[in-house]
Amino acid sequence: MVEMLKGIAASDGVAVAKAYLLVQPDLSFSKVSVEDTTGEEKRLDEALAKSTKDLQFIRDKAAKTLGEAEAQVFDAHLMVLSDPELIGQIKKNIVDNKVNAESALKEVTDMYISMFEAMDDNAYMQERAADIRDVTKRILAHLLQVTLPNPSMINEEVVVIAHDLTPSDTAQLDRQFVKAFVTDIGGRTSHSAIMARSLEIPAIVGTKEITDKVKANDIIAVNGITGEVIVKPTEEEKATFIKAGEAFAAQKAEWEKLKLAKTITADGKHFELAANIGTPKDLTGVNNNGAEAVGLYRTEFLYMDSPDFPTEEDQYKAYKAVLEGMNGKPVVVRTMDIGGDKELPYLKLSHEMNPFLGYRALRISLSSLGDGMFRTQLRALLRASVHGNLRIMFPMVATLKEFRAAKALYNEEKQKLIEEGVAVSDSIQVGIMIEIPAAAVLADKFAKEVDFFSIGTNDLIQYTMAADRMNEQVSYLYQPYNPSILRLIKHVVDSAHAEGKWAGMCGEMAGDQIAVPLLVGMGLDEFSMSATSILKTRSLMKKLDTTKMQELSDRALNDCDTMEEVVALVQEYVG
Ligand code: PEP
Ligand code: MG
Repeated sequence: MVEMLKGIAASDGVAVAKAYLLVQPDLSFSKVSVEDTTGEEKRLDEALAKSTKDLQFIRDKAAKTLGEAEAQVFDAHLMVLSDPELIGQIKKNIVDNKVNAESALKEVTDMYISMFEAMDDNAYMQERAADIRDVTKRILAHLLQVTLPNPSMINEEVVVIAHDLTPSDTAQLDRQFVKAFVTDIGGRTSHSAIMARSLEIPAIVGTKEITDKVKANDIIAVNGITGEVIVKPTEEEKATFIKAGEAFAAQKAEWEKLKLAKTITADGKHFELAANIGTPKDLTGVNNNGAEAVGLYRTEFLYMDSPDFPTEEDQYKAYKAVLEGMNGKPVVVRTMDIGGDKELPYLKLSHEMNPFLGYRALRISLSSLGDGMFRTQLRALLRASVHGNLRIMFPMVATLKEFRAAKALYNEEKQKLIEEGVAVSDSIQVGIMIEIPAAAVLADKFAKEVDFFSIGTNDLIQYTMAADRMNEQVSYLYQPYNPSILRLIKHVVDSAHAEGKWAGMCGEMAGDQIAVPLLVGMGLDEFSMSATSILKTRSLMKKLDTTKMQELSDRALNDCDTMEEVVALVQEYVG
């Protein structure tokens, strides 16, 4: 039966392909007595051989796409599979106790896992426990003849269906084969959605029930522009989706003509259109989409893509590559923003009830746990500064005291480098993200001390509306056009200008086609967004007249009571 579902449109584009279920299979089993223990040993050997084959394939693929360092994680898994002591004990358990391979495997590996986990101050042992847990799952899946999903093994065109996707799952998706993804949960500004936009993979999140409705290999039609998904579409529906895809491709070709153009409004005013990136590899997208700057480099991905803390040298190389790649154009690098939905396995953080309100970002950098990590990052940035036009900003600043503490550490590391005879640029701007309402309200005070603001609306909206950006149940409250949000933004922009500073925005709102006319009217200086939103925003800005947009934003700020009224007003002005 045809099923039509509606979710949150998270990344533009259309696709029709068969479903690949990225859902954990049921690995439950019963313990049973067996007479034929040789047969059970044979089943175990077969499952071990198949698991080895899987892991070798995954390892080779990871080495090619992510690099040798990432691939080494799988070497540890392969070692578990060929560990004679472990395998010997499982077989002994089968023979001595006459039990099935599943239960013999689980009993022995559980024993090892608890033993390693008991050494809880030893990170190496914790990792071994995690390796054994992972490998056990794979062997069990082969014994039970169910398939473990693995995004990096996809080698045909599919639509990935998942309950949720973590940023690291998303990073493993290969654009060549993954034509779209659809999830049960998530919001438009979750990092997986943001990554989908930069990978140009059409995506719909927050459908609530896609995993209940879809079976492996069902044909799925996805429209990431409208948020519509059809499970088992009719021929007619397929044709409608394919047509929408063609129209989108034609629209994109039109926008592409603006790649080398400056961003100028109808009355000749220039606004800077910048791109958000997560790794130096994203520079290809930045250049292909004609960005005038990098307005946000999310450096936490450098940490997340590495099996251990990246060294000063590794970081220096990454920052240098981005600065050089931008050829003197501004590059705003944000110091690491770990926490929230961005986890770092080797930084052992305790589980929190509210990770988005917890120990994250600058709060880690300014604590004793993060001090060394933060100083290393600052040194790498300062050393790289001579290779381009560097701007540094701190994330999640709530108080002036935090900014002053971060700036003091920056000054200390700068001074040390100068004393060591290392060249450092003398024109680095140091600013902050405005993503906590407390900082937005106090922007007039912050503006006296910082070089610039970059408004992080992804977080600013969730904190102002008290609506989790990841939670589709409250996504109706995630309202960029609510007059309360617009008033905060206007206050931030005005406060920056009053002190002769500039104000940008690097939250997803900066590329939102309804918000852009309002932000132009408020005089925002820089708009930083997923690279793939730049050309359509440039095309929109060409049609806007700044005097008219000022009138629009004044009316939105003063006359509108609700988000709906603001949207209607923008439509009245822009059409
Ligand atoms: C933001 O909060 O708006 C932002 C740009 O940062 P992130 O999405 O990485 O939290
Ligand atoms: Mg943020």
